[in-house]
Amino acid sequence: MVDSVPLFVMSWNAEMGMKKADPVKMPLWVKMVNVPMEAWSMDGISAMASSPGTPILMDNMTTHMCQFGVGRPDYARVLIEFGATKNLKKCINIQYTHKEQNVRGTKEVKVEYDWKPMVCTYCRVFGHFVERSNIRQRIVERRSN
Ligand SMILES: [Zn+2]
Repeated sequence: MVDSVPLFVMSWNAEMGMKKADPVKMPLWVKMVNVPMEAWSMDGISAMASSPGTPILMDNMTTHMCQFGVGRPDYARVLIEFGATKNLKKCINIQYTHKEQNVRGTKEVKVEYDWKPMVCTYCRVFGHFVERSNIRQRIVERRSN
């Protein structure tokens, strides 16, 4: 489980100046499309948003829908903290279980992003794509020598 690896957000301070740091976590707005009616609740939405990251807050319309059941049922929009150790999920599966924990069925919720951050799946940091990874290149070079 990559989730058990502790992550640290680099805090910016004056000493770091303009030095470039590759952050390992960043806030990201996600849009969850076709949320089934029964999942429209604070618990339901945050449980779903826990799949791509750690939910931080919902937008006003999403909160309104959860509280009053009216508004914009097309999609839920949640700000999550996204870690570079995770892949950007394209969908979330909701599992419906019986009391005996047998899976009764699943529903798929599509996930969309306002923008996708550059994430290196090799270094597990943001800021560059794996193709541009200097560290990877260096290791590959060393191995071939
Ligand atoms: Zn890299």
